[in-house]
Amino acid sequence: LAERLQNTFKKLKGKGKLDEKDVDEAMREVRVALLEADVNYKVVKDFVKKVKERAIGAEVLGSLTPGQQVIKIVNDELTELMGGTQSKITISSKPPTVVMLVGLQGAGKTTTVGKLGNQLRKQGRRPLLVAADVYRPAAIKQLKVLGEQLNIPVFSLGDKTNPVDIAKAAVEHAKSYGNDMVLIDTAGRLHINEELMEELKNIKESVKPHEILFVMDATTGQDAVNVAKTFDEQLGIDGVIITKLDGDTRGGAALSVKAVTGKPIKFVGMGEKLDALEPFFPDRMASRILGMGDVLSLIEKAQSTLDANKARELQQKIKSQDYNLEDFLEQMRQVRKMGPLDQILGMLPGMGNLKQLKDVQVDEKEMLHIEAIIQSMTPEERRNPSIIKDSRKKRIAKGSGTKVSDVNKLLKQFDQTKKMMKQMMGMEKMLKKRKGGG
Ligand code: GDP
Ligand code: MG
Repeated sequence: LAERLQNTFKKLKGKGKLDEKDVDEAMREVRVALLEADVNYKVVKDFVKKVKERAIGAEVLGSLTPGQQVIKIVNDELTELMGGTQSKITISSKPPTVVMLVGLQGAGKTTTVGKLGNQLRKQGRRPLLVAADVYRPAAIKQLKVLGEQLNIPVFSLGDKTNPVDIAKAAVEHAKSYGNDMVLIDTAGRLHINEELMEELKNIKESVKPHEILFVMDATTGQDAVNVAKTFDEQLGIDGVIITKLDGDTRGGAALSVKAVTGKPIKFVGMGEKLDALEPFFPDRMASRILGMGDVLSLIEKAQSTLDANKARELQQKIKSQDYNLEDFLEQMRQVRKMGPLDQILGMLPGMGNLKQLKDVQVDEKEMLHIEAIIQSMTPEERRNPSIIKDSRKKRIAKGSGTKVSDVNKLLKQFDQTKKMMKQMMGMEKMLKKRKGGG
């Protein structure tokens, strides 16, 4: 999808002015690209219509070309299509928070229960994993193994008890053992059937989960979206977790599911490993789908006008917890698009004279290096740069056409930025407190 759209926009890039015909032509290609990516037909139709409406007669921003303006609109609308902003799980003010994962067989429920538990625990919570899939004998074992690996407790009553009783007992167990999150792994089927829905409804009825999350396999595209719709109609879901996004080159499921079900994507699974679960950011996904590194940077340059909204956006990003090299890269791009760093920070409360800022300023060429270096790392390394040993540094340098000293420099910049983020967050908390007090 990314490649196709890029070609479309390349065509537009040469144009000086954009009229209705240009928009039409570009949108025809966008439409085909989306359909080929297995995006729901109706979603595509509405999407194209919306972009067209916005594009024709839209004011072209100061330093953008008309072509760039269209890309920006497509990017904005894609973001909107996927929910606009990040959507988190609801944490009950009266623990435990009960989360139930549902979906078809093989979608990734059991794995995701483990991943979610892992993530929640890293955030200082005390999850309890519940084995309520009693049909596949291996399912209970699978969850227990995950629990052991992660050192997170797993609640099971074997496969002779019915899932409703298991779920109920698990919540009671959580209450007496101080587990604040109960994650229920339910059974799936190859296809939707009444028996499955009945069982899930009964569990829902008896434990009243705060969140029912539908787990869907990205690689099954439209089928998965249709199943999501049925689950929502029959059971009611609060959100979606898309798994196997690492193996999905088309992005169709991610693009359609919010529009079709009205329910947001909350997390995405990016691999089989237990730390491969990420919060879902619609704007990042849109950029990824558009694959428009170069195009985006053009737009970014054009948008260097800084306003309070942008500063707030940046602040949101900074607040996001697992700050890693991917966020760093994203932020570098953001920062570059917004203009001089000291100016931006001037707009954040309490900022002004952080000396280490000098070290995170980068120029055009350095930015390309940074991107190349980060892209030469494995996802694991991006998430956790401390695991990068000297031999890997050599490899990364080679892979990105840079020197080991460049890799070291980047890692140092990352560390400094991370430190700075911490300071900022501390600062913000302080300010909040002050406000609350007065
Ligand atoms: P369940 O039947 O819904 O419980 O599915 P499982 O949790 O047993 O997962 C089915 C398969 O999908 C397993 O082999 C998992 O390792 C794999 N899987 C789950 N999530 C992901 C993911 O995000 N990426 C990849 N590549 N594989 C995944
Ligand atoms: Mg399972």
